[in-house]
Amino acid sequence: MRFRALSRVALASLALLFAAGLAAQQPSLEDPPNPPLPVLHVDNGSNSAAAQRAHYVVLVSLDGFRWDYAKRDAATHLLSLGRHGVWAPDGMIPSYPSLTFPNHFTIVTGLYPEHHGLVANSFYDETRQARYAIADPKAVTDGSWYSGTPLWSLAESQGMRTACFFWPGSEAKIAGFQPTYYLKFDDKIDDNARIQQVLSWLRLPAADRPHFITLYYAEPDHEGHEFGPDAPETKAAVLKVDALIGKLKAGLDSTGLPIDLVVVSDHGMARVEGGWITLDQFADLTGFDTAGALLYGKSEQDRARVYNQLKQASSQFVVYRRKDVPAALNYSQNPRSGDPVVIATGPYALRAHAPPAARPDPPPIPGMHGYDPRKMPQMKASFFAAGPDIVEGKTVAPFENVNLYPWLAHMLGLTPPPSDGSLNVLSGTLRDGGADKGN
Ligand SMILES: [Zn+2]
Repeated sequence: MRFRALSRVALASLALLFAAGLAAQQPSLEDPPNPPLPVLHVDNGSNSAAAQRAHYVVLVSLDGFRWDYAKRDAATHLLSLGRHGVWAPDGMIPSYPSLTFPNHFTIVTGLYPEHHGLVANSFYDETRQARYAIADPKAVTDGSWYSGTPLWSLAESQGMRTACFFWPGSEAKIAGFQPTYYLKFDDKIDDNARIQQVLSWLRLPAADRPHFITLYYAEPDHEGHEFGPDAPETKAAVLKVDALIGKLKAGLDSTGLPIDLVVVSDHGMARVEGGWITLDQFADLTGFDTAGALLYGKSEQDRARVYNQLKQASSQFVVYRRKDVPAALNYSQNPRSGDPVVIATGPYALRAHAPPAARPDPPPIPGMHGYDPRKMPQMKASFFAAGPDIVEGKTVAPFENVNLYPWLAHMLGLTPPPSDGSLNVLSGTLRDGGADKGN
């Protein structure tokens, strides 16, 4: 009895000591995530000899990180990254609409949303008679919804292994390939474990080590929506993701590998003004399919009628027949954008219909994005980058995010297909000036 009692005490003490030891010890980013994360592996073969000699690019997205947050909130790690490399102090210009999926996929394809096909987070396709929605895993993982060649598919097709710790489109087979390593989107996965996983990938043998890696954080977008862009909660989220960038940078430096770290966001955030603007109060939308404020008329007669009804209806939106949408928006060519096309003139909450009467109709959330970045500078996104391919201490004027694609491909030594972007726009930020690598 006595022995067993002592033993229990001893065991408890040991457990306490163990727990204290764990608490005192900083969880090391050098260790692989424990428990291991559900990483999916696609066998695309080994890195080619040329790929093994190539540099590395880690592309991080901080969702909804508005262009002016870093300076406003003194995000020291991001500002330091910019000082040691390049950044866009006046922001990067997202593509229209300034929404998450359209812009993430623009960043990795160099195509405007109307060309890569994700014209909104949710939309209708008349030809397929089907809907795409970011919350629908079946649509998200179906490669036939996407056009263009995302960077990971470009790299894989040219013998270079890639890994995606989340990125819109990364769970589908697009342009013939999936990333060698990827995860199903699950925002509950721990922030630090994501960094541990990225570093684990970079410790793989050279034959299997991914050279292009994406990493995604959903903050500060959540807080910007829920509390508004100027709320203390949003500032706290800004500083939280900034600290993560600091940890990631230190971890990347410790690998000794030639890694270019590129941190971007998809769009900014604006405080919503007023209540809902519901389009069916201005026009008879009978027979229209709708998605958000996108309108899909079934006949030319219907489209012309609704266009005329909405034309002079409000100063809070403008309406165009799709073919007449201003060229700067790049939103006139894809039927998935609907017809007519309604565009907010300010930070207003547009929708086609109110939810069915049985459900409550809460007011719009405090923060929103999706607007025309040329009319609303709050939509502009962030851009910071540093590494062996990037010049030190340079700033760039606002540029369209389609230009990231040829720039990232160049750093990886890949030959990109034609896109809506041009290497000329950012070539001044490259140590080699964007010259042909000759491989
Ligand atoms: Zn958002």
